[in-house]
Amino acid sequence: MLSRPDGIVIAIDGPSGAGKSTIARLLAARLGYIQIDTGAMYRAAALLLDCAGVDLGDTAAVGHFCKNIDIQLEAVSGRQVVRANGMDVTDQIRTAEMSLLTSRTSTLKPVREALLKSQQQMGRRGGVVLEGRDIGTVVFPDAEMKFYLSASVEERARRRCEELTAKGETVTLEETTADVIERDRQDSERDLAPLRQADDAVAVDSSRLTIDEVLALMVKMCRNKISDLESSP
Ligand code: C5P
Repeated sequence: MLSRPDGIVIAIDGPSGAGKSTIARLLAARLGYIQIDTGAMYRAAALLLDCAGVDLGDTAAVGHFCKNIDIQLEAVSGRQVVRANGMDVTDQIRTAEMSLLTSRTSTLKPVREALLKSQQQMGRRGGVVLEGRDIGTVVFPDAEMKFYLSASVEERARRRCEELTAKGETVTLEETTADVIERDRQDSERDLAPLRQADDAVAVDSSRLTIDEVLALMVKMCRNKISDLESSP
């Protein structure tokens, strides 16, 4: 029996550049589920803090600010639109600079507390694919299906370099490699909700697999899980 009204909760965690967003989007489309990109929410929060010039060392000020932030993910003609306090910040949050700033702001307790609540609220009915760093460990430790998607540092840096270059940013492979290593360090060494594979997550290494291969594997496992639950009393 499914315990949630709209389906299961699928958690995809893993380091940056492993392909989580692409896979989460395609997986959600195949299952008719909603994709929740929690990284985009952390990025939007970082942008708001930065624009408001909040002192990141002042926990009370960050806490006060976070009480009034509103971050929404919307699907507009198949494209994910991120709104922060009503503003469309979809493109602004994707620069290399914002990636590094987000790794910093996402270590802050008030930021995590504010976003944790809204992510749990968004996903609690099921029928969702949530991607991030702490979904299977903290946000939904009871997710019915958990994946840990990773890839080698070299492969992730190569993909990031290609992605940013395609957007017109001037970056070198050395720079994206250094960024990937630094973000891995910040994400896995932080005290709160560090990047970690949940004990019951299925590990998928995408270094040598195509997107279609990764997707096929994950769709199959999710469908099996859904039908197992539907047929159990
Ligand atoms: O997934 P993405 O690279 O867009 O995430 C940006 C940053 O947001 C990550 O480097 C991480 O620091 C933070 N993040 C997090 N917890 C999540 C999702 C993202 O701390 N669940």
